[in-house]
Amino acid sequence: MTSETMLTPEQAQQIVLAHVRSLGLERVALLDALGRILGVDVHASYDNPPHDNSSMDGYAVRYEDIANATPEQPAVLEMIEDIPAGKVGEKTVGKAQASRIMTGAPVPAGIDTVIRVEDTRADGSRIEILDPDELGANIRRRGEDMKEGELLIRTGVELGPGEVGVLASVQRTFVPVFRRPTVTILSTGDELVEIEEPLEPGKIVNSNTASLAAMALAHGAVPVMLPTAPDDLHEIRRAVETALAGDFVVCSGGVSVGEYDFVKNVLDEMGAETILWRVAMKPGKPLFFCKVHGTPFFGLPGNPVSSLVSFLQFVRPAIRKASGHRSDNLLLPTARARMENSVSNQGDRRTYLRARLRFEDGWLHADTAYREQNSHILTSMLGANGIVILEIEQDVKPGDEVAVQIIGDVF
Ligand code: AMP
Ligand code: MG
Repeated sequence: MTSETMLTPEQAQQIVLAHVRSLGLERVALLDALGRILGVDVHASYDNPPHDNSSMDGYAVRYEDIANATPEQPAVLEMIEDIPAGKVGEKTVGKAQASRIMTGAPVPAGIDTVIRVEDTRADGSRIEILDPDELGANIRRRGEDMKEGELLIRTGVELGPGEVGVLASVQRTFVPVFRRPTVTILSTGDELVEIEEPLEPGKIVNSNTASLAAMALAHGAVPVMLPTAPDDLHEIRRAVETALAGDFVVCSGGVSVGEYDFVKNVLDEMGAETILWRVAMKPGKPLFFCKVHGTPFFGLPGNPVSSLVSFLQFVRPAIRKASGHRSDNLLLPTARARMENSVSNQGDRRTYLRARLRFEDGWLHADTAYREQNSHILTSMLGANGIVILEIEQDVKPGDEVAVQIIGDVF
């Protein structure tokens, strides 16, 4: 199959997403909603601040009484009441009167301005105003933060600490959020041993189950790691049937064209309809996607790097859609970066290179030479916080700009 007849990664992403629906909602306690996706629109249930209040410790006054005050000729007022935070003043401030007020306390009736304590002198109940500031100074108005009924946070927003604070303000002890999808992870291959098993000659350690489960967890899903299945039709079928308990199945190995690649045969036998097979990208060409009894099933390549790159391009968006993220926020964020080394793509597929990105002089810089770029070099994922995308025949020198996907924090 040539690259012309293979799907582009963008086409494959859209096909996958078209087969994924968002899951239902669950209610979680406010703090457990951190990092979750809000399942309802949240409106302000009251005006906040609920009342005009002072933004300073000082005196609540009528501006007309103090408009001409100077340090030499202070305006003299009579203090009639003390209003600490949390109390409501009972007296109306009249001509040449003031109430002492603390930050956050509701302003009393009759006043229009608060003068900071630093701009006053007090002698018992005799207050001298030394500086008039301006009309309306130091008063926070009712509803300035939020107005009753106002839409504050939309469905599909990922909840961070700021959102948790706003939800607390509107008195949400429990929050409806989208369910996190469960992703069952299955690795196949006679060559694999589990992490803790002895490494006999000819065997390799199964790292994909752990790395793919970590990916699922990192991107908002709940991973379920199944035991490794050998290259055996019967065993793979049993494993796939178990795996269907998840919202998604992610299987690695066994979908390329080797003689012992059984997973596709098993899926055919189970009546799964192939939705896509093979994508024009490197690594990650042998991507397989189908639905088995309604459950989306990803067959990722077995090579450790390929499986992770494919996960980020195809499984991550599916997890995000199922988790309720908004449709414009499913794919990896992209940016431009300056290359630090030379790279070129002489092949016939778009290439995804593991990169270390950093900020310097207002620019994002990408290094892809810190480790060999090959789909079996799992250590090329160490410290990789980006992927450099090289189109066919693209040839870049140090300093050239390239497209990057951001896959981790950049410093
Ligand atoms: P496959 O896609 O099954 O042909 O596997 C491609 C390559 O990836 C082979 O070198 C496998 O040994 C390796 N591989 C497959 N599955 C895993 C796994 N779970 N962990 C580590 N390497 C794997
Ligand atoms: Mg295999």
